[in-house]
Amino acid sequence: MKAAVLYELGKPVQVEEVTIDPPQANEVLVKMVATGVCHTDLHFIKGDMPQPLPVVLGHEGAGIVEKVGPGVTTLKPGDHVILMVAYSCGKCRYCVQGQTAMCAEWLTYHMMGSLPNMTKRLHKGSQELNHFFSQSSFAEYAVVHERTAIKVREDAPLDVVTILGCGASTGIGAAINTAGMKAGETVAVFGCGGVGQSVILGARLAGASKLIAVDTVDLKLQKAKELGADFVINASTENAQQKIVEITGGGADYSFECIGNTNVMATAFSSIHNGGKCVVVGMAPLGAMLTIAPYELLLGKTIVGCVQGHIKAAVDIPRYVDLYMTGKLPLDKLITKKYAGLDHINEAIEDLEKGRVVKAIVKF
Ligand SMILES: [Zn+2]
Ligand SMILES: [Zn+2]
Repeated sequence: MKAAVLYELGKPVQVEEVTIDPPQANEVLVKMVATGVCHTDLHFIKGDMPQPLPVVLGHEGAGIVEKVGPGVTTLKPGDHVILMVAYSCGKCRYCVQGQTAMCAEWLTYHMMGSLPNMTKRLHKGSQELNHFFSQSSFAEYAVVHERTAIKVREDAPLDVVTILGCGASTGIGAAINTAGMKAGETVAVFGCGGVGQSVILGARLAGASKLIAVDTVDLKLQKAKELGADFVINASTENAQQKIVEITGGGADYSFECIGNTNVMATAFSSIHNGGKCVVVGMAPLGAMLTIAPYELLLGKTIVGCVQGHIKAAVDIPRYVDLYMTGKLPLDKLITKKYAGLDHINEAIEDLEKGRVVKAIVKF
């Protein structure tokens, strides 16, 4: 099969023929229909986060189950699935308490570039290739654990709902689950890429009254308006914190940082009113430190982070798909461009990096 392999940090991925082993116990082979390209892929290409090389990146895939390994009970060939960025073991303390996105197991095997049973299925000749977030969706096929593949209704277009595997569900979940918003509350969203725009969709669903979008790129602010932002602030020409305090009459109920920039996190924290909540969704480079005034904590302000917006994939993903299919969650509007085939993957990566697209999809 064809796959996009990253051999060296900071370099383009190489699209080439590789081999994939059949699924083992509790695994399924999925024929990829589409994959999103996410800023997290960019972070790993740049080396902001550690990852063993060479690796087949991609973690927002969707496709059709082609083969199931021994012991698979939840899926069968022909099932349409969205592949999740996070695997959950179902047994650790977090999983048992229903916080499956925080599963204690997944980070270990992710760091090893393997599947959950600590082995690999991808090869280039005699060289073993590493997996990425247990899926490696920049390839025509993926072998994944059955708990990573969430079955969805067959009338849902996979080249749209595929974005629910990571970025979109993270943003929607951050608004609905992590923040726990109620109708009528006010929201400021910092960073209007795929995740930030998804926070806007989630906040709109949750009934935000004043929805404020902040970015430095006009194209993204325009998109934010289209998706339901009531106010937009270009932070390169305006003081975002001041403007938010003005619009909300003292600070927003919630702010979301969706970039991974520690200065923006501090601004987002200072843009909420006393007792408000700042949700960090963006991923700062490993080792970065955040400086905030502890005095503000005495004012009852909260700052909290999330993995995947605290979603419970098996329940929330089919639910978000239903919301899309009934027109209440316009996921398709997040997608700026669809690229025809893996041969265009570097173009998609570059467009995303340069801010030319909000969400890029590669169709197989
Ligand atoms: Zn992602
Ligand atoms: Zn677990």
